[in-house]
Amino acid sequence: MDLGIKGKRALVSASSKGLGFGCAQALAEAGVDLVICARTEEPLHIAADALRGFGVDVTAVAADVTMEDGRAQVLEAAGNVDILVTNAGGPPPGKWQDWDRADFMAAIDANMLTPIELMKAMLPNMIENKWGRVVNITSQYVKGPSAILGLSNTARAGLTGYVAGTSRDVAKHGVTINNMLPGIHATDRANALDGAISQAQGISMDEARAARSASIPAGRYGTPEEFGATCAFLCSQHAGFIVGQNILLDGGFIGATI
Ligand code: NAP
Repeated sequence: MDLGIKGKRALVSASSKGLGFGCAQALAEAGVDLVICARTEEPLHIAADALRGFGVDVTAVAADVTMEDGRAQVLEAAGNVDILVTNAGGPPPGKWQDWDRADFMAAIDANMLTPIELMKAMLPNMIENKWGRVVNITSQYVKGPSAILGLSNTARAGLTGYVAGTSRDVAKHGVTINNMLPGIHATDRANALDGAISQAQGISMDEARAARSASIPAGRYGTPEEFGATCAFLCSQHAGFIVGQNILLDGGFIGATI
């Protein structure tokens, strides 16, 4: 399917690896020029070179998108874009008894206020152009509970509320905002969570992974490639009527009828 976005320009934040890279790769395949970012130089430049292999223009910014100065660098390099995919690393797992104000503020900064700041910067030009696509990477735990990911749940619930209202406000300008809610995907983040479970329960990494895979109706972890393909579709010309949705990619994990 021709996604109809060849020649458009996108900012995909936190995108040298994992789900952000999956989204960047699918957009590159569709002919979209890219601005990508991550904190660590080497994997960022490896990712940028791989994306250039699709024949698109790629600008790579080594910066922490959750910090004000890092975000300013990313926004300056990006200028105006047609497509914004927001992503950042997720907060660490833990226990509700241990989290204090500083932990919550860090999570809210990274996973709620950072995507909001990026949208606030990019939406005016999209509105003027009468075309824009925003996809925020959140989490399946926005829809279903997880005690150990309470910091993530709290911050992402706030973002979800913001998107619900803002998406309805900008839709009349041809600008769509939607959230993608990943279930467990085979990335470094999933490895870190497997590691935390293996430690907490005194089991091996393989046992932790097998137990988590068995908890998913699809019986496996998702891949960054299939996640990226859905992201590219949401950013395509064909998705202009999809507004303010929270799209689960969880292999059926969240047990809800609708
Ligand atoms: P990942 O494999 O760890 O990749 C994270 C990417 O983001 C890396 O390129 C990393 O590079 C970059 N990054 C992280 N923090 C950054 C920051 N502050 N500024 C700039 N770049 C940053 O993670 P993932 O699995 O793709 O997860 C992406 C998001 O989806 C996270 O918020 C995660 O919580 C959420 N999620 C993931 C899963 C899953 O199973 N994978 C499930 C639910 C939700 P640097 O480290 O070099 O900066």
